[in-house]
This record gives sequence, C-alpha cells and structure tokens, in this order.
Amino acid sequence: MIDVIVCGAYGRMGQEVIKAVSKESDMRVVGGIDVKGVGETVFGVHIREDLEAVIRETNPTAVVDFTRRDAALKNIKIALENNVTMIVGTTGFSQDDIKEIEESVMSYRGNILIAPNFAIGAVLLMKCAELVAPFMENAEIIELHHDGKLDSPSGTAIATANAISNHKRFYPAPHSSDARGLNVEGIAIHSVRLPGLVAHQEVIFGALGQTLTLRHDSISRESFMPGVIYALKNIQNIKGFVYGLDKLLFPKGLVV
Ligand code: NAP
Repeated sequence: MIDVIVCGAYGRMGQEVIKAVSKESDMRVVGGIDVKGVGETVFGVHIREDLEAVIRETNPTAVVDFTRRDAALKNIKIALENNVTMIVGTTGFSQDDIKEIEESVMSYRGNILIAPNFAIGAVLLMKCAELVAPFMENAEIIELHHDGKLDSPSGTAIATANAISNHKRFYPAPHSSDARGLNVEGIAIHSVRLPGLVAHQEVIFGALGQTLTLRHDSISRESFMPGVIYALKNIQNIKGFVYGLDKLLFPKGLVV
C-alpha cells in the first residue's frame, strides 16, 4: 500500500489529489495538511496543520505538496528531516530555491520529485518543442492560466524555455519594446491571467516563411492527476533530486 500525506489538502489541487489517490486500489491518503480548513474533513480526510506530527503518526510512503512556495520550502525540509519521499507540484520557486533544495536533498540523502507540470500532455509538448527547436530560428511562449495563479510566468513556461534553449541558442527579436514579455534564455514568455482559464501553453516557433505552433490545454485540474498517480506508482525511481515528470516518463532522455 502506498500511503500518502497531502499538503495543501484544502486547496484546489490538494482536493483533486485526495480524490485521485482514493480511487487507486493500492494507495490511500493517510493525512491531509493545510493552514485552512483545519479540523474539517475533505473527501474523508481530516485536515490537520502539523506535517511533522502526522508523518510521525502515519509513517507515509510519500508527501505530495500543492501549496505555495514558502509553505512548500518548509514542508520539503520537514520531509527530508523525516526521511520521507516528497512529490512537489507547487510552483513559484526561484533558481536559487531549486539550487538550495537540491543541496539539502544531497546532504540529507533524501528523495524528491519537483514537477512544475503534472499534465502528461504538457510534458509531451515540452518534448515535442525540444525536437523542433534545432530546426527553427526563433521561439516565443504564451502561457494562459486562471486569475488565481500566484506566480508568473508559469513554472512550465520557464522549464520549456530552458529545455528548448539546451538544443538551440535563441535570440529575442530585434526592435523589442516594453510589451515583449519576460526574456528567458532569449525566448519571450507572455503570461495571460483570466477567469475561465485553467492551464494552457503555446510554443510558437518561427522560421523563414513559416511558423509552427504547439499547444496544450488543461481543461480541468483532473488533467494533472494521471501524472501525480504515475509518480506515486513509480516512486522507486525517485532517487535523490529529480526535476520534471519527464525524468520519470523518459528515463533515457528523448528516446522512449
Ligand atoms: P490553492 O487552491 O491556493 O491551494 C493551496 C493550499 O495550500 C491553500 O489551501 C493554502 O492555504 C494552503 N497552504 C498555504 N500554506 C500552507 C502550509 N504551510 N501548509 C499546508 N498548506 C498550506 O492553490 P492550487 O490552485 O491548489 O495550487 C497549489 C500550487 O500548485 C500552486 O503553486 C500552483 O501553481 C501549483 N500547481 C501545480 C500544478 C502542476 O502540475 N505541478 C498544476 C496546478 C497547480 P492559503 O490559501 O491560506 O495560503
């Protein structure tokens, strides 16, 4: 049995994780942690505040975190100190945060997966973009999310820009003015925040006389759950610091 504690259990993603894990015959939620809804029950899970206490009581296989940057940093530390594998979907980490987390994981000899996007289609979009990159002159990214999203640009958009720039050095278009998005590795990222949206991303490549557009749409938060369940089912492959669900889906790189 895979025993899971969900951090952010009262939040939008946390509640989806509780529902998804509860549907699996070989998994169960043994604890729900949040700063909101403490004492209430969400889909059969009692919400508590003290992660460390619940870890000690339940000895879980994994802690799944969908909270916010500052909370996730504290939760990661607690999981590492208590030798529990951590699966983190929270976004908004800086490069320095990621470096610090990686160093802590090394020093504790812990296991952690940080995945800025658990939608398998979004991971496949990134892989397709890596295949296309060497053949096109330039690229821009438009990411569109619900208006409750705290960070911008999205972790997925930054990860996509970093991934494709490993295959080709891109340069922003000349004559750039102010409204050109954020330049990440020479790729302009434009962030749209509107009610009605969930999570969407377009990568537009341009070359002489042609464009190529890759697009992925998460039309509900359920779209992230197959990726979370995949990570839990493949938890034995989360060894040390693992960044990106693609590392579990494509352990040999772009080769399937
Ligand atoms: P949300 O609805 O605001 O839920 C987050 C929950 O965590 C809230 O109830 C929040 O309470 C709570 N929280 C804050 N501090 C906490 C702490 N110390 N311990 C435990 N819980 C704490 O947000 P969401 O839409 O579910 O998104 C959560 C995160 O997942 C965001 O970073 C989002 O960008 C990310 N996300 C990732 C993916 C992916 O595929 N990787 C997909 C979608 C979303 P308060 O509201 O009081 O702070």
